[in-house]
Amino acid sequence: MTITGLTPSARPITIPVREILPWAILGGLLLMLAIYFVGAEQGATSIFRGMYVHEFVHDGRHLLGFPCH
Ligand SMILES: [Zn+2]
Repeated sequence: MTITGLTPSARPITIPVREILPWAILGGLLLMLAIYFVGAEQGATSIFRGMYVHEFVHDGRHLLGFPCH
């Protein structure tokens, strides 16, 4: 018994690694920058003076399990 009309007709798109690699690297760098600001932007490793960045990402620190206070 065959059911006609229910077979998928769309085929998945293949993306070559050469085209996606620069975007993957950019995304990785942006994620590493975000992790820095969430996890290490305070005290001796801070770039910006004051606690503004720390307070801005404070909930993210606790969500990701970074020690805080
Ligand atoms: Zn905290």
